[in-house]
Amino acid sequence: MKPALFDYFRPQNLPEALSLLDEFGTDAKILAGGQSLIPLMNMRLAQPRIIIDINGIAEIGQIREKAEALEVGALVRQRALARYVHTDGMWELLRLGMAHIGHPQTRNQGTVGGSIAHADPSAELPLLFLTMDGEAEIASLRGNRKVPAEQFFQFVFSTVIQPHELLRAVHWKRPASKTAGFGFYEFSRRAGDFAMAAAAAIVEIDAQRRFTSIRLGLGGVGPTPVLVQGGDMLYGRTWSDNLIGSWLEDVTKGLDPPQDLAANPDFRRRLAGAAAHKSLFSAYQSANGKWEGRTHE
Ligand SMILES: Cc1cc2nc3c(=O)[nH]c(=O)nc-3n(C[C@H](O)[C@H](O)[C@H](O)COP(=O)(O)OP(=O)(O)OC[C@H]3O[C@@H](n4cnc5c(N)ncnc54)[C@H](O)[C@@H]3O)c2cc1C
Repeated sequence: MKPALFDYFRPQNLPEALSLLDEFGTDAKILAGGQSLIPLMNMRLAQPRIIIDINGIAEIGQIREKAEALEVGALVRQRALARYVHTDGMWELLRLGMAHIGHPQTRNQGTVGGSIAHADPSAELPLLFLTMDGEAEIASLRGNRKVPAEQFFQFVFSTVIQPHELLRAVHWKRPASKTAGFGFYEFSRRAGDFAMAAAAAIVEIDAQRRFTSIRLGLGGVGPTPVLVQGGDMLYGRTWSDNLIGSWLEDVTKGLDPPQDLAANPDFRRRLAGAAAHKSLFSAYQSANGKWEGRTHE
């Protein structure tokens, strides 16, 4: 199918793009990698009157190392970020999770900002963004504002970004500890499909292998990615399948997953519990390995 008629603008810098957004507001849609927007337009599920193509704005296409975070311009391609984090253990969770996004072709074209702004609850980047306690930098003619990931997602395909605003960059926080361990697990029907349920975990343990910090995020289980609460109950305890299993049973009971063609809510709850268990176990193992490495230094 072909999209409905629209007017096309290709600003060459950020102020120009922001002026267009200010002028056209809800009539306009930003075009980044087009991997979600173009199919929606072709199916006429989206019929924007104005398209603002941001692919010519070089200043939002860069990755910068900052003291406490990695600043990733919204236009950075998913493939470019995956390559950037490939060899640096600090960003292991990003590397693990991004490997599940779509296909090489979609990652070559799709942008980091596009995926996070699109806010598909089954998408990997929004889940990673929330689990890693990231921050969105949002620009408008009135100035920039920063929004923590926990306040960013509002509903399915809905975020705090207003029609006159643009996601300028995403800040990925460095893990506080060098011995933090990371795990990511997802269930999907085929490689490259969106997740039916996914889990991302960051675990810290002490020299006695007792939990000192747990951050667990779940995707595909509700209208937005979910940051699981209550992990602090496990602090001071070492890994046990029963301990983790009974905590996750409570966690998944509290979820309200959608019913769709891929899975019913009960099945999705079970998948989420299994994905969470596996991602936590990988994270715990990886933290344990880092302590072992220290002992042998
Ligand atoms: C076959 C296929 C398989 C896929 N599988 C997966 C998968 O497994 N996991 C996954 O996560 N994704 C998957 N995707 C989606 C893909 O990751 C998209 O790239 C991503 O969802 C959107 O990024 P984009 O740059 O293409 O954005 P676009 O499609 O250009 O835009 C998406 C939306 O975000 C808005 N937007 C874009 N950039 C900005 C910005 N800077 N500020 C404000 N709003 C903005 C647009 O207006 C639009 O509403 C798949 C896509 C395809 C075609």
